[in-house]
Amino acid sequence: MLDDKVILFLFLDVILIFVALIYMGKLSTLLLKPCLLIDLQQSILDGNFIIMYQPIVSTTNGHKKNIYGLEALIRWNHPKIGLIMPDEFIPLVEKNNLMDRLTDILLQKTLNDLKNNDIFNLDKTQNISINIPPSYLLKSINIKKLVLYRDNLIKLNWQPCIEITEREKISEQVIISIHYLRKIGFKFSIDDFGSGCTALYLLQEVPFDHLKIDKRFIEKVKNDNDVNHIITTIIDLSKKLDIKPIVEGVENRQQVEYLKGNGCEIYQGYYFYKPLNIKTAINEIIKNK
Ligand code: C2E
Ligand code: CA
Ligand code: CA
Repeated sequence: MLDDKVILFLFLDVILIFVALIYMGKLSTLLLKPCLLIDLQQSILDGNFIIMYQPIVSTTNGHKKNIYGLEALIRWNHPKIGLIMPDEFIPLVEKNNLMDRLTDILLQKTLNDLKNNDIFNLDKTQNISINIPPSYLLKSINIKKLVLYRDNLIKLNWQPCIEITEREKISEQVIISIHYLRKIGFKFSIDDFGSGCTALYLLQEVPFDHLKIDKRFIEKVKNDNDVNHIITTIIDLSKKLDIKPIVEGVENRQQVEYLKGNGCEIYQGYYFYKPLNIKTAINEIIKNK
């Protein structure tokens, strides 16, 4: 028979494991995994998502930092757990073929946010970047939605830019859609460049406007010489191809100085701004005018 002391220790052990899991943010996901899909389906029906906007900054104008655009970043607003970050729920969305529906929600929510927080007083068009999976561009119904989205955004003085990730392979059909959407006024960025499965030939096939250098390279800027070579080579390559590079994940001054010294002018990262709610993001744009 276990005596009371051993039972107490076992009980304390269990409590400690729970506290550690809660601390690591894992408990909710572990316990709720089986119901998470049901919740996700319900949240997609109810539109329980919010969009945060991270400013992209340009330093072309001397030392003054200008907001070059905003990137829309989605969060699942789970009714019981609260906000869940995209890296935690997008794999579940992808696995269950719900990406098109999530993208529809992204288009609808960003449009509403921008309609409700207008920038008519600014004389300049602003860039709004949205993350679209290549598979969304395979269906003609989705292309029609994007055309409508562009019409609405342009009326509101926003220039839409689609960020395509390298995670999925980009087929011939997707390339045809990109050409069409560019012709009618979308800009395109290739996202997470250098970390996915993009073959370099894609840069030749698609006239991208921006190439976003993955933050995993930037993290190592100071202490890894080989990584520094990779970054400068990507910056050179994009310039030779007339594609503006954007460096993501910039967190400190040394990184900015290094990147600036190597000819980079457009940045995104916590050093400048974290993702903001729409009101704060628009205020920052107005302040920056
Ligand atoms: P991403 O497109 O590469 O977006 C940038 C991610 O880096 C964002 O994380 C942003 O908050 C984070 N970030 C920005 N600056 C820094 C920095 O200085 N340091 C660090 N450590 N991180 C920084 P978030 O919002 O968690 O998004 C993660 C990924 O989820 C995105 O990566 C994107 O691939 C995907 N995602 C987000 N929103 C959407 C969406 O609406 N649709 C789709 N399809 N994917 C989305
Ligand atoms: Ca992105
Ligand atoms: Ca990225």
